[in-house]
Formats: sequence, C-alpha cells, structure tokens
Amino acid sequence: MNSTSCPCGSGELFVECCGPLISGKEKAHTAEQLMRSRYSAYVKHDVDYLVSTTHPKSRTSDLAQSIASWMNQVQWIRLHVLNAEKETVEFIAEYISDGKPAQHHERSLFKKHKGEWFYVGEA
Ligand SMILES: [Zn+2]
Repeated sequence: MNSTSCPCGSGELFVECCGPLISGKEKAHTAEQLMRSRYSAYVKHDVDYLVSTTHPKSRTSDLAQSIASWMNQVQWIRLHVLNAEKETVEFIAEYISDGKPAQHHERSLFKKHKGEWFYVGEA
C-alpha cells in the first residue's frame, strides 16, 4: 500500500501526496491540494474526510449519505485538473457508472474558514 501512486494523478506516492491530508497529518495549503485530496478520498471511500472538508455552511444533514451512495455507484478512473486559481479549481473526473464511461466536469469553489481550506460547492 505504501508504494502506490496517488489516485489524484500527481505522479507522487499516495503517502507523500494526498495521504497525509486524508489522514489529518497535514492540512491543504491550496484549494487545488484540497480538491485533489477530496478526489483521492472518493477513490479510497473516505466519507468522513469528504464531510469534514466540506465548508460548514454547505454541510447538509444528508451530506454523508449522498456522498456514500454516489461513491458506491461509480468506479473512478482518473482526475484531470484543468485550471486552478486561488479559490476555484476546474476539473474533470472520469469514472465508470453502470458499466459505461462517464465524466464529471465541475468548477469548484473553495473558501478558507479558520485558516483551513474547505469545499463550498460548484462555483
Ligand atoms: Zn494526490
């Protein structure tokens, strides 16, 4: 497990890339880092990380449930970060759903809250 490359496609090892963020050892320094770690958390089925990195204002009561049902329906293929700015990251995530290839294209908004980056929603 320690030698696996990171699902986010950075070319780094998971333990040196998104791993420390997901395990809580490190905090994301940029919106892009947080976005990449959230994609890796989807791949690793880490619902808690996805909920805890969602901005408190965007944390709906059914958030954990909707994340879990979405991640159980899809098989992630790869992530392409198209554009990353201070608070927005545009990406395409390729996945398989119902045996068919599909894409999720989103421009996400991130905000700092008490010194940490959080995912707010679609920009
Ligand atoms: Zn990564």
